[in-house]
Amino acid sequence: MEKYISERVKAIDASGIRKVFALAADLKDPVNLSIGQPDFDVPEEIKEKAIQAIKDGFNKYSQTAGDAELLAKIKKVVERETGWQNPQVLVASGVSGGLMLAFMAMINPGDEVIIPDPYFVIYKHIVKMLGGKCVFIDTYPDFRLPTGKIKKAITDKTKLIIVNSPCNPTGIVYTENELKELAELADKKQIPVLSDEIYDKFCYDGNCPSIAKFYRNTILLKGFSKAYGMPGWRLGYLAVGQHLKNLLEQMLKIQQYTFVCAPTPFQKAAIAALDVDVSKYIEQYKIKRDIIYQGLCKKFEFKKPQGAFYAFIKAPNERATEFVEKAIKNNVLIIPGNVFSEKDTHFRISYATSNDKLQQGIEILRSLV
Ligand code: PMP
Repeated sequence: MEKYISERVKAIDASGIRKVFALAADLKDPVNLSIGQPDFDVPEEIKEKAIQAIKDGFNKYSQTAGDAELLAKIKKVVERETGWQNPQVLVASGVSGGLMLAFMAMINPGDEVIIPDPYFVIYKHIVKMLGGKCVFIDTYPDFRLPTGKIKKAITDKTKLIIVNSPCNPTGIVYTENELKELAELADKKQIPVLSDEIYDKFCYDGNCPSIAKFYRNTILLKGFSKAYGMPGWRLGYLAVGQHLKNLLEQMLKIQQYTFVCAPTPFQKAAIAALDVDVSKYIEQYKIKRDIIYQGLCKKFEFKKPQGAFYAFIKAPNERATEFVEKAIKNNVLIIPGNVFSEKDTHFRISYATSNDKLQQGIEILRSLV
């Protein structure tokens, strides 16, 4: 069997998260604070568009880059939000698909990718699969954008810097000043920045600035999964400035020979999604953020989340994996921080669940300290 398996995939270790799911398998009706997707469903009007698209026969391949009408609409959104003239965009099979295309088009074996730690898990594993080297930058304990440390970590092998704001797993949102400072550094060194803004709508204390506004060599990724409750529809998009058109074309070559295109009927529905106001969901999530913060801040050490739907919390007096095991034995599902980090000191909770479940979870977690 061993000889069937590539060295590439052996570089990936999924045991941490699998252990959590194994422990959780025996639980009946657990308080599940581990979920990385919103608890609301796709708004009705968008569902109707998807059904209509299927009935109207939009069931064939779209162009590799995406449905022309959707692309035109995304272009306008990107122009408005970044100030870029004539951005180049592609529709991907989720932001995950976009990450795969971007990394495959950019990373050579031995290239270094700077990743603030904690980080969203996919980055590390794709970079490793491609033979790249992750250079993790410790952002504990406040999780702010560590431009000073990034500067020190840059070498002549640095290929890319990753930024994720609002951040999974910390819930931190970077300020304009932080992003401007990084943009200046990246510009000076001529290193592109990949900005994963999948949680951009989940922003509770003001707006969510994008580094794309300050840095022309940004590879911008945005998604539909979270804001419209459609993670199973597999839709996201990637945008770059006009001067990086050739880079986007390389990504399209890979899309052509891998994903082919994002799901066509859902692309049609996404045209309508871009006009749907999701602020009522975001207001509910702000309330959930407040419930979690008020419920746990006196017993646990953590930064108040400003965006996304996670809190990254210091485990009391022990290794976080041990605390997570204890929590799971007490019927609360949380994720150990070492799934998102080189450290094992914190745990992630997701507050994408009902307010009742949140209250139950808070009570159990408080009783464990
Ligand atoms: N980026 C981040 C930071 C995420 O948390 C997720 C989903 N958990 C993704 C990208 C991927 O999302 P999708 O592929 O569903 O668009």
